[in-house]
Amino acid sequence: MKLIVAIDGYASCGKSTLAKALAKALHYIYLDTGAMYRAVTLYFLENGINYEDSKAVEEALKNIKIYFKCVDGQTHVFLNGRDVEREIRELRVSEHVSQVAAIPAVRRTLVALQQAMGQRRGIVADGRDIGTVVFPDAEVKIFLTADLDVRTNRRYLELTAKGIDAPWEEIRRNLQARDYLDTTRTDSPLRVAPDAVVIDNTLLSPDEQLEEALRLVRAAQERLCH
Ligand code: C5P
Repeated sequence: MKLIVAIDGYASCGKSTLAKALAKALHYIYLDTGAMYRAVTLYFLENGINYEDSKAVEEALKNIKIYFKCVDGQTHVFLNGRDVEREIRELRVSEHVSQVAAIPAVRRTLVALQQAMGQRRGIVADGRDIGTVVFPDAEVKIFLTADLDVRTNRRYLELTAKGIDAPWEEIRRNLQARDYLDTTRTDSPLRVAPDAVVIDNTLLSPDEQLEEALRLVRAAQERLCH
């Protein structure tokens, strides 16, 4: 039986690294919900949409089409037919995404899309509200956390590797600011779901983290068989 695996946690905690590895190991689909909020933010920035104007936001949402497609073996997010996988990671998007993600109309639209994508199960989704709002019935729920400086280092290396220039201090500030906005917003704040397992991966390697997650998946499969 195919499961739903929900991975939530703070910014740059390695959620996508774990989710991708887990999806590959289980032959499941990987759903990067953060990429969807980033794509909407990019659209607002590029089209000069004032996201504090709820009418303008509602109108703009009607013109946004987001989907995922495999490009060279990697899942890329497409915004109105354009591959925006690289642009959505830039700091200018990171600086606005948590404000955009706090808008109820934006969340309503994207959550509906995410739930439709998970209908056939066999999915590993990562984000901030996956285990609490998007898939509250997910059989496996993981909440990731890690030390802020370690997260900043990881993000810095990730961006540098992609050729995206961003100063370390600015990245650290942005991670802190996003965590604050994500945990304090009114609509679907980032929370540990009551049935989630918290994993602090500060001192874990990606392989150790994957092992731990696979153990949780196997335990859930066992539970469902009995
Ligand atoms: O996962 P990532 O860091 O790319 O997400 C970018 C931002 O999108 C988060 O800081 C958060 O504000 C928002 N987000 C969200 N709910 C999700 C996924 C992301 O609010 N499920």
